[in-house]
Amino acid sequence: MSLRPWRPIRAVLIVSGMLRHPLRPHLGPDDLVALYGPEWGERMALTSGRAPDAVFALIDRHKIDCAPTRGGFLYVARTRVRLRSIEKLAEEWRQRGVDAVTLDRPATAAILGTTAYLGGYFDPRAGTIQPLSYTRGLAKAALRAGASVFAGVRAKSLRRNGGRWLIETSQGPMSAPTVIIATNAYTTGLIGRLSRSVLRIHSVQLATAPIPEEIRRTILPAEQSCSDNHADIRYFRWDQEGRFVLGGPGWFTPPRTPNSTSFRRLERSLKEMFPQLRTFDVAHRWFGAGALTLDTIPHLHEPRPGIFAALGYNGRGIALGTVRARGASSARRSRAHSSVSPNAASHASVQRRIRTPPHRCGFQSTVWKGQGRDSLGPPLARKRGACHGQDRRSA
Ligand SMILES: Cc1cc2nc3c(=O)[nH]c(=O)nc-3n(C[C@H](O)[C@H](O)[C@H](O)COP(=O)(O)OP(=O)(O)OC[C@H]3O[C@@H](n4cnc5c(N)ncnc54)[C@H](O)[C@@H]3O)c2cc1C
Repeated sequence: MSLRPWRPIRAVLIVSGMLRHPLRPHLGPDDLVALYGPEWGERMALTSGRAPDAVFALIDRHKIDCAPTRGGFLYVARTRVRLRSIEKLAEEWRQRGVDAVTLDRPATAAILGTTAYLGGYFDPRAGTIQPLSYTRGLAKAALRAGASVFAGVRAKSLRRNGGRWLIETSQGPMSAPTVIIATNAYTTGLIGRLSRSVLRIHSVQLATAPIPEEIRRTILPAEQSCSDNHADIRYFRWDQEGRFVLGGPGWFTPPRTPNSTSFRRLERSLKEMFPQLRTFDVAHRWFGAGALTLDTIPHLHEPRPGIFAALGYNGRGIALGTVRARGASSARRSRAHSSVSPNAASHASVQRRIRTPPHRCGFQSTVWKGQGRDSLGPPLARKRGACHGQDRRSA
């Protein structure tokens, strides 16, 4: 039985404009202003807050069939400390004109169908999509606009050849005046130390079989999506076929089988948090890699003239990647990347901070420690048959 790295075949992902990090509950508008100053901070907050609009506008414009829903997003907390930070975040968005509604414990439980949370806030801007269908829709739109798309081709090396970049691929050479690298957590040694600007972490998700309507009405009844703000995060929603989808961080190493600790922890959360789903089998399990950055912000780099790299989405790349791609493309046109990203300038220092193996180990262990401290429960003892259902990849 083998699991291969995630391809979002059945994944249904939350589109949220918020920046998130496993160690910090959120990076709100005020944090961005504190980090980058009023001009850049406000600009970044506005861009991230409007990122879902950009995605839904593209979906409309190109008529992308990707099960879009715009039910809004609940951001919730299990502890008082985390709840305070959520309330502060809601207030910061309210000050910027967003209709962010704070929810007390009973209101949260009534919407979520679980008593696991103390409260939260509702953000109407977010929605959900089927990410693979979205990606395919974008590819089709690019093809219609005259682009060529090569699937299943690996770029192996890049080198300067006259005024162009020569790309050696698994299916022969190509050349181009400009290259944009968008390999996020899967970045390897293609260019310098780019892979060292991010830390790869694994996220896991599972989905139940389709659930009857009367039970579905007890959890997120208006197509909302939800995430908590803990390092041992849980996020959930319904997919278009009535499956309940729950995600969380991987436990240390990528899961190798459906019985891996990462999946079993998630399945235990599902049954503990949502007793009404206890009798339903988990039908699908999958995982993938996300890229963390030290400053929790996605990065745009220009490591060599004519090569741009956009990566480090900290688990929020669907909407942010869409707006970042526009940034990379306008940087390519204007060749002034500092006009689209303040941290493009901090590229060197970011790399320096996690450049060496000890730095990387330190960052990784801080992430793990954060998750352990914040954990919903101890890791499970290995027990055969603890996972029910069938893994699509094992068939
Ligand atoms: C389980 C899970 C849940 C998630 N949930 C959410 C969510 O709810 N909301 C959200 O916004 N984000 C979510 N994310 C994060 C989101 O998927 C990523 O941020 C996003 O996919 C990043 O997009 P990307 O195009 O930059 O990189 P990717 O989607 O990772 O694509 C990079 C691609 O580059 C390819 N590649 C790498 N090296 C080479 C090479 N040398 N040559 C050719 N190709 C190469 C890889 O094969 C890969 O296909 C989740 C991620 C996971 C794993």
